[in-house]
Amino acid sequence: MLKTSARTLHVGTLNDCYYQPETAVCRTMGGADQPMLNNCRPDRCGNATITTRHRRGWEAARDDTERALVFVGLSDLQRTALRQHLSDVTKVIEGIDHAHD
Ligand code: SF4
Repeated sequence: MLKTSARTLHVGTLNDCYYQPETAVCRTMGGADQPMLNNCRPDRCGNATITTRHRRGWEAARDDTERALVFVGLSDLQRTALRQHLSDVTKVIEGIDHAHD
């Protein structure tokens, strides 16, 4: 209880973070012992909280990814990575919408 109430909220564009080092995905990617919102995986990290306030940021990420996918000259690997990213972003948006149906 005390530990929970002592957590600090870190506000971000795509999510907020209630940082706990033992479950921080960014920390496993070589981050320091603090939130790394610029290297964040909010769709995969249990410390992330995504609300309707973040939906516009996810929409922008989806739009950017769709624009990138129409570039000619992408390698198959790049195109596959972008499609996976688009799928992940779309799932987050759907999750936001379903949470508030
Ligand atoms: S990955 Fe993102 S949500 Fe998770 S601990 Fe790091 S900054 Fe917070």
